[in-house]
Amino acid sequence: MADKEDAEPVTGRPRSQRVNSLFSEDELIEDYYDAPPANGGSGWSDNDPGPRPPAPAVSDGSPGTLGTGMEGAAAAPLSPTIKAGWLDKNPPQGSYIYQKRWVKLDADYLRYFDSEKDAYSKRFIPVSSISRIASVGDQKFEVITNNRNFVFRAESDADRNEWMRTLQQIAEERKSKPPERTSMFLTTNGATDLADKSGFLELRGFKHKLFVAVAGDKVFLYKNAEDYRLGIGITYIEMNVGNVKEVDRRGFDLTTPYRIFSFSADSDQEKEEWVEAMQQSIAEALSNSEVAERIWAVESNRFCADCGSPKPDWASINLCVVICKRCAGEHRGLGPSITKVRSLKMDRKVWTEELIELFHQIGNAVANQFWAANVPPSEAIGPASGTWDRRRFLIAKYREGKYRRYHPLFGNQEELNRALCAAVTTSDLAETQALLFCGAAVTCATGDPQCPTPLALAEKSGQRLQMEFLLHNKTSEPPRLEAGCSEEKPYSVPLPSVTHNGFLYKTPSMAKPVGERKGQEEFSRRWCTLQDGVLSYYENDRNAVPNGEIKVEEIVCLVNNPPHTHGIESTFEVYIESERLYLFGLESPDSAREWLKSIAKSFIHPRAEELLALDFERIGRLHYKGGLSLERAKEGWFALAGSALHVCFEDSERQEPLQLRKLQELSIQGDNEVLVLVERRRTLYIQGERKLDFLGWVHAIQKAAGSSGDTLSEQQLTESDVPLLVDRCIDYITQCGLTSEGIYRKSGQNSKTTNLLEMLRRDARSVRLKEGEHQVDDVANTLKRFFRDLGDGLFTARWGQDWLQATVLEDEEAKIGEYRRLLGVLPTVNRATLKALINHLFRVQRFSGENQMNTHNLAIVFGPTLFQTDGKDYKAGRVVEDLISHYVKIFNVNDQEMKKQQDEIMAIMKMREAASSGTQQAGDFICTVYLEEKKTEAEQHVKIPATMTAEELTFEILDRRKIVMKEKDYWSCFEVNEREEAERPLHYSEKVLPILHCLGTESYLVVKKQMSMENMLIYLASRVGDCKHGMMKFREERNLLGLGLSTGFHDRYFILNHSCLRLYKEVRSHKPEKEWPVRNLKVYLGVKKKLRPPTCWGFTVFYENEKHEKQQWYLCCDTQADLREWFATFLHVQNGGSLWPSESSKVRASRSQQDSRLGNISLIPLRGNESEMRNSVAAFATDPLTLLRNV
Ligand SMILES: [Zn+2]
Repeated sequence: MADKEDAEPVTGRPRSQRVNSLFSEDELIEDYYDAPPANGGSGWSDNDPGPRPPAPAVSDGSPGTLGTGMEGAAAAPLSPTIKAGWLDKNPPQGSYIYQKRWVKLDADYLRYFDSEKDAYSKRFIPVSSISRIASVGDQKFEVITNNRNFVFRAESDADRNEWMRTLQQIAEERKSKPPERTSMFLTTNGATDLADKSGFLELRGFKHKLFVAVAGDKVFLYKNAEDYRLGIGITYIEMNVGNVKEVDRRGFDLTTPYRIFSFSADSDQEKEEWVEAMQQSIAEALSNSEVAERIWAVESNRFCADCGSPKPDWASINLCVVICKRCAGEHRGLGPSITKVRSLKMDRKVWTEELIELFHQIGNAVANQFWAANVPPSEAIGPASGTWDRRRFLIAKYREGKYRRYHPLFGNQEELNRALCAAVTTSDLAETQALLFCGAAVTCATGDPQCPTPLALAEKSGQRLQMEFLLHNKTSEPPRLEAGCSEEKPYSVPLPSVTHNGFLYKTPSMAKPVGERKGQEEFSRRWCTLQDGVLSYYENDRNAVPNGEIKVEEIVCLVNNPPHTHGIESTFEVYIESERLYLFGLESPDSAREWLKSIAKSFIHPRAEELLALDFERIGRLHYKGGLSLERAKEGWFALAGSALHVCFEDSERQEPLQLRKLQELSIQGDNEVLVLVERRRTLYIQGERKLDFLGWVHAIQKAAGSSGDTLSEQQLTESDVPLLVDRCIDYITQCGLTSEGIYRKSGQNSKTTNLLEMLRRDARSVRLKEGEHQVDDVANTLKRFFRDLGDGLFTARWGQDWLQATVLEDEEAKIGEYRRLLGVLPTVNRATLKALINHLFRVQRFSGENQMNTHNLAIVFGPTLFQTDGKDYKAGRVVEDLISHYVKIFNVNDQEMKKQQDEIMAIMKMREAASSGTQQAGDFICTVYLEEKKTEAEQHVKIPATMTAEELTFEILDRRKIVMKEKDYWSCFEVNEREEAERPLHYSEKVLPILHCLGTESYLVVKKQMSMENMLIYLASRVGDCKHGMMKFREERNLLGLGLSTGFHDRYFILNHSCLRLYKEVRSHKPEKEWPVRNLKVYLGVKKKLRPPTCWGFTVFYENEKHEKQQWYLCCDTQADLREWFATFLHVQNGGSLWPSESSKVRASRSQQDSRLGNISLIPLRGNESEMRNSVAAFATDPLTLLRNV
């Protein structure tokens, strides 16, 4: 089975050291003198006169050219070896002894190594630099490059000839490749520009500094800068197996499975840059090229739209052009109002199907027909053009529109707008492009009240791609020829110098929030100027000495008040570092907006300039922690617009919006010090350094995170766009009320329903519906009331009548078709909500035997509710009845989804049956949980409500035993599997009930301290990047067909990233042998002894795919630390980075779990079978004394 030829077992440390020793100073000297002086050698420079520096980027060539790179594109671009063997290399000067070298040739490099097992070469010579191969007698041959010659001796003439033939052939092939592959390296100023970062670094083990270049997905080591220019280096490191870690102020390690490279930079600033460049390189090596491959499927997209470089992997998503990395850098300088730059490989989120399709339809071909219709050859740029030329060209091309093809309507604004409104209803994207970039206004008035904007027109006409194009150009500015100033235009100055002046109304500055409304008389009119980074205010416009001034660099926040907040129509607040705020006002909203924009522009960091395009109500800088490094607070730029908080994080170039209404948690910690925002995938801590502006942010964010009105889309939402309120009610009824007789028909208590609805409307996120506290009928009526009072209704005023009309269609198929069509035009939130509700009703009627609510009865109740009618129109009920009856067809529910729902119904049924044997309340489930270990004294019996999380259960148990959780006591709930001899700490937010349902008889729950948590948290906080890779011992569960392939444990190489775990047979394998989505893995600590695990640090992993096929396998690590790191990474990935709850949720959880009926009396352990036990506990729940009396 083992592939001997390619086998390069990595056996850990000894190997690394051996390789290490090979990079000695000797090695540096070895080749140093064996080359003739640059032009003192034979005059063999054939057709290639000048120096031809083969740059590191040559290596970017993955095997094959663009067209063939389809399969395994995501794998590392390792070139397959074409020829390899032992050769003698001629001795360095001063020595007569030939050195035995393992020589390897692939499509890109000729490399030689000390031994065939080495991962890192002693020398690499780019094939592209080889000009000739010559025979020099004695079985020797010479590899001639433009500057150096290398002599090798083979064992026989035949061997020598074979080498020469192969080398010649490969070198020829390289030369005959299309020029664009190599022409980009013919730059006159050397290869410098092609590397992402290059320069000198100390490498441990070397006396002299090495010249290091990070380029694409590799890091290249050269003896010196001259070698770098020539392209002849020592070795390169494939970054798909790399990991970078900062060590001290100037030092950092690049770790690979073969060797640790310990570098040291000249300064900490330099170090930061190197680490960043190398991380970028790792990201590139591990990035997914699926999007790129799809976009490159169109020929013209395979070359940069601006300079023609091959394989461009960046794009401007509003211009719809694919561009190279260097052009992308210049695009970014133009600003997001002109071009929005994204990576094809790294920005996976933006690449929707629509956008990809748009790049097929427009892309470089159609875009350049417009943008580059008239480029004079003297101004065009090529792959090798310098930064300055590139910048000048791109400014002319996109900012000024100098080369564009003018639309015949150019200059006639009204006509342009009218033409745009017409174009967006057709599929003619080229026309829309031409109109938009010749001045048509993307938000012009259409004159149609139904569809007020071109976007709405496109939507109505079903033109998805037009919509996509318009959306990305919502904030685009049309090109403008600015005479004379085009080249002086600041490219990226630290703070743009903004000038603005005029009269403003102003109050004295304050050290407290503006509490109450300020009357007009409290403002004084002042002449204000914004100039050279200072906002000054003067008594009047003739005064030369200001009354006061604000330095823009001291501004931390700018707030745009809603109109008429004070006695002057438009007001805004300026907060400064020293905790003061200035209130300004203007009668004219337009001038106020201009002031706001100017001030914002003056103090916002250029990297956050994207935020300026937003219609923000608040903008500024704040300190935050988040992501991987929690120990250091970073500075981010924030803008609040509507219900989205847009953030430019310190380490990312683009702003990211957080949808505040979709937050899972929003809380404030400490004494108003930290605002915690929990999103599905991450947690963000915003720190209140300065009280004044921070409190303003907190209130504004809290307000924006709440519901803002009574329509659906204004509610707090779940991830799937269903109002949280609806989700909470449905969830509660599903857990507690499916079998409740007359559910949704019986009325609840009016006052309770009113209160509950108000609470949920205000902040559904903070409401927990609990049994005992809330009655099923009250919750059911709350849900109904919500829909009945809903602004615009669930079916919307616009479409409601169409739904009712559909019921008269006699043909069943036609009717279903019409419902589906209508469903398609509903706004997203309405559609998601309707689906969730009908899905719920579909379940409710499945229990009609018990609850008496069949489809018809439900329809009678919900028809008038949802259509907000008086109930006289029978059609409303018909719609609901049809929707429930044809639920599967209308909502396109697939088998998998259906199966999942059925499983859930089964689980609920089971619970019902169990419950019906006692007097238990609906939804309760009693379970035995142990404290610290499984023994009878440690038993606790706990009622598990549907909403209980592992954290809450832990607190329940600790509370009962009066155990106080101290800091760094990581009490957790574990699921222990006795059969597998493995256990798994539940994540604190995991719901316990579903786990109980699938807990086998050999499993139980125990609450104990999680000893490794602290170390895991430290590890996660200290590491760089969010993936892990390395060797582990792997064993698969025996083949179920009984073929008896007991395989034992074998070394395998694993890479775990944010989405999947990949297994490679060898460290250097191109393609993973197996790949599992992390979400579908359940990882337990421990491996059963029967399997004779090779170390005691193992995992048992269960995998279940969508088809419910199960696999089980085992992994072993060499050290405990390694095990911890792997486990921490798994948890980190599976739980969106949050391993341990924040302080506030602990407090809340512990309080909310005080069950009044149980008080603090701990339950007395019970004996007997499960149902006896349940009965007793249920009885206890009703009257605690009965139980105590029995004892
Ligand atoms: Zn380019």
